[in-house]
Amino acid sequence: MALIEIQNLHASVDGKEILKGVDLVIEPGTVHALMGPNGTGKSTLSNIISGRPGYQVTEGRILLNGEDIADMEPDQRANAGIFLAFQYPVEIPGVASSTFLKAAINAKRRFQGLGEIDAMEFLKLVKGKAKELGIRDDMLKRPVNVGFSGGEKKRADILQMALLQPQFAILDETDSGLDIDALRVVSEGVNSLRTADRSFLVITHYQRLLSYIVPDVVHVFAGGKIVRSGGPELAEELEAKGYADYVSAA
Ligand code: ADP
Ligand code: MG
Ligand code: MG
Repeated sequence: MALIEIQNLHASVDGKEILKGVDLVIEPGTVHALMGPNGTGKSTLSNIISGRPGYQVTEGRILLNGEDIADMEPDQRANAGIFLAFQYPVEIPGVASSTFLKAAINAKRRFQGLGEIDAMEFLKLVKGKAKELGIRDDMLKRPVNVGFSGGEKKRADILQMALLQPQFAILDETDSGLDIDALRVVSEGVNSLRTADRSFLVITHYQRLLSYIVPDVVHVFAGGKIVRSGGPELAEELEAKGYADYVSAA
């Protein structure tokens, strides 16, 4: 069974149709890249999958492990294993990053019928993962994303993902604003999470990221839907030729 199946998804914001019939099937254990011009609905698609309010789905559906997720709240979707790394990470003044991460882990554990994570176990886990991602301990004490550099925010997002171990992770332009070292760290973080049943949707403008996180399938998104799909070579073609062919066709 597909992990994610999106069927003829149409969606609007304030009565303006943004998604115009998205079809996408993501099998367990695969990495899909979504590339395409700005302003065509890629972030809208990510937000709708994660259940962010403010969008109206007017047609079609999204299945997670064969179940329609239309009636699930954002937190239920997160607990069911959907993770979205934001294009623009939110700052949460007054909440230490480690407190936030612990709360996220405990929310998931409650959903699984488990008790709260042991304080020592949590510290060991978070420090270990942080170290792997090149995140300094003092960053964990600082408020979530407040005063973080672009690269630090992205690393913090990947740390959250590494701790939550989602079934399906969406990275929405997680590479934008990263220097080459941060890009490598983030990519290695993602690659270390690749398993036979976890899948990723990687939204990016750059082939560069996809030479680190090698996708199984590459999609071109234009005019509110997927207009072409292919293998990793499609990303190279897009890098060389741009989206002009698709923009005029969409
Ligand atoms: P992409 O991620 O491909 O750059 P977006 O999904 O961010 O594109 O945006 C697609 C279109 O939807 C744009 O025209 C954008 O202005 C519009 N849009 C997205 N979210 C909102 C919103 N909350 N309110 C109004 N318009 C929105
Ligand atoms: Mg349609
Ligand atoms: Mg976007």
